[in-house]
Amino acid sequence: MKQFDVLVIGGGHAGLEAAHAAARMGVRTGLVTLALSDLGVMSCNPAIGGLGKGHLVREIDALDGVMGRAADRSGIQFRLLNRRKGPAVQGPRTQSDREIYKKEIQSLTAAQPGLECIAGEVTSLILENETVSGIELNDGAKILGRSVILTSGTFLGGRIHIGNQSHSGGRLGAKASETLGTQLRALNLPIGRLKTGTPPRLLSTSINWDVLERQPADEDPVLFSFLHDRPFLPQVECAITHTNATTHEIIRENLEKSAMYGGHFEGVGPRYCPSIEDKIVRFAEKESHQVFLEPEGLRSDIVYPNGISTSMPLELQEQYVKTIRGLEAAKITQPGYAIEYDYIDPRALRSSLELSSIQNLFLAGQINGTTGYEEAAAQGLVAGLNAAARVTEREPISFDRTNSYIGVMIDDLVTRGVTEPYRMFTSRAEFRLSLRADNADQRLTHLGISLGCVCEARKAALETKVEQLERAKQMLRSQTFTPTQARKSGIDLSEDGKRRTGFDLLSLPQVTFGDVAALVGGLDDLPPAIQTQLSADALYAHYLERQKNDVAKLAA
Ligand code: FAD
Repeated sequence: MKQFDVLVIGGGHAGLEAAHAAARMGVRTGLVTLALSDLGVMSCNPAIGGLGKGHLVREIDALDGVMGRAADRSGIQFRLLNRRKGPAVQGPRTQSDREIYKKEIQSLTAAQPGLECIAGEVTSLILENETVSGIELNDGAKILGRSVILTSGTFLGGRIHIGNQSHSGGRLGAKASETLGTQLRALNLPIGRLKTGTPPRLLSTSINWDVLERQPADEDPVLFSFLHDRPFLPQVECAITHTNATTHEIIRENLEKSAMYGGHFEGVGPRYCPSIEDKIVRFAEKESHQVFLEPEGLRSDIVYPNGISTSMPLELQEQYVKTIRGLEAAKITQPGYAIEYDYIDPRALRSSLELSSIQNLFLAGQINGTTGYEEAAAQGLVAGLNAAARVTEREPISFDRTNSYIGVMIDDLVTRGVTEPYRMFTSRAEFRLSLRADNADQRLTHLGISLGCVCEARKAALETKVEQLERAKQMLRSQTFTPTQARKSGIDLSEDGKRRTGFDLLSLPQVTFGDVAALVGGLDDLPPAIQTQLSADALYAHYLERQKNDVAKLAA
């Protein structure tokens, strides 16, 4: 019988990050999933990151996780969202080539020492005295694990809906985990139902791209991994189109045919990622909604129309899609659908993500009531580290609201629970001025080094970065300038007679790093990421000083 220290069920975004984290901690790790070819599958949009979510990916990367590295290697359109707003709320995002993302995840997984992947359906947990000790597969085989992490996503009690048709399924083309779901229900865990949806996919050659507004990738791309500084693949444009009065009329007149509105669901859907039916009902006054047409890959002929997730019958999807500019002749290659699934109330978990009622059983990902690849991966990381800590008899590893978005999410989940699929936003983080995407490595990589889950290259990259930052700050603080001197360098400053350090000048919103570098000298060669971080540190320096008190109060 096979035996592992940590055994992970499910090879989605949570399961992968959990398995990698446990293996990096040096314990023997097994990952059992329905199909090995599905490792790295993106069930919905081919994109990673975004507002709040980009912060999570950076934090995962700071602890040497895989999501950021695979996203960088498969990224075909990097865009920093909220570029015009303050750096604290900017979110790195990329559209990924779906197939390349999968390939990168699979090769990182094959290269991870101490991690073995096994194909199979887990039908039950082996439990004794409220403690888990392994799993049983549908062929009767048993595998033992000292800690078990369950990351079965939307597969528990999964039910797919398209119009008034519905069938059991974990996602389109995959069967649901019925037997395991039945066992969990019998354990009297607090189980509820949630739902989510996805849009139809379109054939690229059937779209009239010529009439559509284009959105290019950023000229100065911001990547996810602290180990990367430029994209690996050519960057592509996506296009923007809009729904219109005719689209809305078709949907409004047929609302009862939508699975979401036809009374077929018990579950609650994601408020912040609504279906097109939801948008038309909830924002009835709006005459049109934006639709981003995102290519699914460099060589793919499939396009993901971001913004029209739906559970209408296929005929109606075909009808309303054709009312949208540029999509008049669009062919649907896969219908949009909605899925309803079981989740476990995360208040049943400790902050290590171990279930309070079953020892050594950890849960991560969509099963905890979240939605999104990034949220799932971040929980996977936490569960993987903690499951490994348990078997090596170490203290639980905790993240908190003052050191990370990961900590914010875990705290929200285990203390407040969810009323709808939970998604990360920058507004959830009280200390967002210090929890920035640019400094995730300084906040978390030291923790990773102390746990032993971070590679030498990352450790060296952090040391170099910290040294460069400190040296630059010293240079910026060591010289002062009068307003006259600053004005000569093009800095718009009133003649108030006050001398300011280079760092003070950098804290002024109208001042760029280039302006200050021209005055101070010796800073030109700093890498762009260091320049960005110095500007953000200076911009928020006064607030951060005040925030220290709030952090101390929260800790108390
Ligand atoms: P998953 O990625 O679902 O992975 C679960 C894994 O567990 C799979 O590999 C499966 O094979 C395995 N598994 C399940 N049961 C067993 C078993 N018994 N034995 C062995 N292996 C098992 N997110 C967004 O952010 N925005 C969206 O708009 C959005 N829309 C979505 C629409 C749909 C239709 C779906 C299905 C998902 C959508 N998501 C969306 C959610 C996103 O896909 C998930 O949040 C994310 O993939 C969850 O990751 P996970 O690891 O928890 O689960």
